[in-house]
Amino acid sequence: MAEIIAIDGPSGAGKSTVAKLVADRLGFVYLNSGYMYRALALAAQQSGAESNDCVTWGQLAVSLQIEFSPDGKHLLLSGEDVTEQLRVPEISGIASQASACPEVRAEMVRRQRALSEKYPGVVMEGRDIGSHVFPQARYKVYLDAQAKARAQRRHSELSALGIDKGLNELAAEMRQRDQADMTRELAPLKRTADAYYLDSTDMNIEQVVSSIEAYVKRGGSK
Ligand code: C5P
Repeated sequence: MAEIIAIDGPSGAGKSTVAKLVADRLGFVYLNSGYMYRALALAAQQSGAESNDCVTWGQLAVSLQIEFSPDGKHLLLSGEDVTEQLRVPEISGIASQASACPEVRAEMVRRQRALSEKYPGVVMEGRDIGSHVFPQARYKVYLDAQAKARAQRRHSELSALGIDKGLNELAAEMRQRDQADMTRELAPLKRTADAYYLDSTDMNIEQVVSSIEAYVKRGGSK
């Protein structure tokens, strides 16, 4: 079985940036489970098949052809690299809605577990990775930050992609999405007692990455 470092937390906490660096330093493969829910949203949008019906969402999820690049940093949907298109706010909202469907979650979790088997070591980020997908993982991190800092970070990220969205509007969307992710019935985002908790509000990336690296080197003791 692969060695898993699960990194969960709300949107904008810095999971992607940190998870990629941790994976590079430890020689693990980086996998972003959120990309899979986003790829589903994009496929629905492209085919004009957006739907609120979980059975239809589930069928679409099963039919998706998703692959990650060998370093895990890019997602290929039906062979096409769609990574940049996945980041847009509209896709975030659709992904969050679809992710509440039991049919969708069952398929994504099945894929995530199967994918992890291909590698000796994986850093997987998401919402339910430590709590549900790999409850037996030796390393679990819950990466948090205050809402204002998270909105500002996401705002800068989107600006760098050329997407100009007002900070207040973005903060409201993120609040709504986090609320939905934390209160859904199935595998909601939650901080589990066995996770190493980090509040990155006043930490820089290097501090967060070294804290996680040290936690792993201690063998997962907090
Ligand atoms: O992590 P990211 O913001 O890319 O995820 C997009 C959405 O996909 C989340 O808001 C959440 O609804 C869903 N998701 C999930 N479980 C995961 C990863 C993402 O439900 N493990």
